[in-house]
Amino acid sequence: MNCLAPRRRRGGAWVASLRRRYPQVDPGAAGLMHQALLPCPPEATVNEALRLITRRHLRLLAARSRNLAGVILPADLRRARALSLGARRAWDVARWGIPVVTPRAAEVTVRRHLFEGAAAVLVREGRRVVGAVEPSIPTVGRPALSLLPRLERQLPAETRGLLRRIGGIGESMGCKVYAVGGFVRDLLLGRQAAELDIVVEGDGLAVARRLASELGGTLVVHATFGTATLEGGGALRIDVATARQEHYRLPGALPEVTPASVAEDLRRRDFSINAMAMVLSATGFGDLLDPVRGASDLARRRIRILHPLSFVEDPTRMFRAIRYQTRLGFALDRGSLGALRFAIDVAPYPALSGQRLTAELELIVAEEPTGPRSLITLGRLGAFTILDPSYRFSPRAARKVIDLGRLRHRLSDHGIALDPLPLGLLALVGHLSQEAAERCLRRLAVSGEPLSRLTGALREGPVLAQRLTKARAAPPSVRAAYLRGRSLESLGGAWLAGGESARRQVEWFLAHGRTVQTLLGGDDLLALGVTRGPSIRQLLDRLRDCRLDGVAVTREQELALVHQWIGPGNRAEAQCG
Ligand code: ATP
Repeated sequence: MNCLAPRRRRGGAWVASLRRRYPQVDPGAAGLMHQALLPCPPEATVNEALRLITRRHLRLLAARSRNLAGVILPADLRRARALSLGARRAWDVARWGIPVVTPRAAEVTVRRHLFEGAAAVLVREGRRVVGAVEPSIPTVGRPALSLLPRLERQLPAETRGLLRRIGGIGESMGCKVYAVGGFVRDLLLGRQAAELDIVVEGDGLAVARRLASELGGTLVVHATFGTATLEGGGALRIDVATARQEHYRLPGALPEVTPASVAEDLRRRDFSINAMAMVLSATGFGDLLDPVRGASDLARRRIRILHPLSFVEDPTRMFRAIRYQTRLGFALDRGSLGALRFAIDVAPYPALSGQRLTAELELIVAEEPTGPRSLITLGRLGAFTILDPSYRFSPRAARKVIDLGRLRHRLSDHGIALDPLPLGLLALVGHLSQEAAERCLRRLAVSGEPLSRLTGALREGPVLAQRLTKARAAPPSVRAAYLRGRSLESLGGAWLAGGESARRQVEWFLAHGRTVQTLLGGDDLLALGVTRGPSIRQLLDRLRDCRLDGVAVTREQELALVHQWIGPGNRAEAQCG
């Protein structure tokens, strides 16, 4: 008998008996696989695929597009149906990039694929898919990887002490406490995290309150989300949350949450590299929990979502994915990139709040040195159509976004800090029609005064830039007059819309022109005999212009000018004074 040949009988009984008799025999892929699968026709809808699965008692459907293999899981189809996507193609919720092996492939090969995060391994004989191995096959328990050596190497003693203390406080309250997300990711990458995210199996808010009373600092509780932030209780900002599961009813809407285990909490997260936890409780302190194989993705430098509808459930994850991709120099894996394109296709997302979108955009624009590169990638992918269906990212927009980075550098060289978000928004929508730009801004929940400043900047910016270019040979006071009294957004808009000459003038104005002051003040003018009232302001403005043009540099020169302007009688009086 060829013990490696696939059997028609389903289930593991045959494998189990074979292994009992010959424990040294490698059952190979054929021995591990199940055959409860069928190919999914490319045109089948989510609803049709679900019916097929139910009718035929299947565990999954297989898909193939060019040389890419995929699997469609019932859980993903059900999720799509719950999100009202039942009429979309089932292929759109496939998990692509699935490894394919022959029935003779060694067990270790199959397990390695699964260990690296594959949703399944397909088994193909000739051109026919004959089975699939899923991660649910029994695994040999392996000891948890301990991050203790890394902690010792990378973190100061004070932070290590803080981590142990947090774990101890949780334990004294009967809760298991974990560090999660960016902290663990950055630890594994050898980077320094600026904040510590804590997940509590138990009452997170009670633990947060206790941490605040023991560590000191200021605690802000976000009761609606069951989270709290502690600042000043140690070197790191600490975010505390109860471990939770999430359930999305509408694309882009906030999920319903219910308390859960840490493993479930990790599975609701955005990307595998952010879905790892480290035990802080004394028992097992430093042990890594990695249920979705984030460490393997870190090693392979890839950003991987945890299910194909991740971006549809929460489209802000698109912005997060590209932010991490650019920051870390990673790449989205093929399946995640396909899922992102699908989520863009599903837009608009009426249930997604503009504030959440803006918050993610702000993180890109304000916090990341590589922000402009992320915006360009998002633009080229078409992600900004979720702001407005007419949005098109053009090479002009890309240039503006690159310029945005330059503007920030140039201004910071002059010691000027402008709010990066409005400038980023101007760069993103500056090439659109005024109406489309305004629709995008409103979608981002920009309203009231900030909206009118931005729409004003979109109108004024190009006009100002043109005027400045024409007036490049005019005295500085004339050029400053164009810019004075304008909002910072309008100045930014003029810079973005202008050529080199206009930009130099905006920079000069921001760095010097707008702060130039006369040496004489209102009191000096009164003492010189100028009548109280608007003429004081007018004279001071004239004096300032003379300073700008280099006509009056010293106090004496200013005095001389005032005497000249107000006439001989007053001059005599002033000289006496
Ligand atoms: P960063 O270095 O950008 O601060 P971070 O991982 O600390 O990275 P946060 O925005 O502080 O990022 O989020 C903390 C954790 O919460 C993330 O690591 C991730 O696990 C989870 N998370 C944040 N936003 C989402 C989201 N939209 N969907 C799912 N999980 C999310």
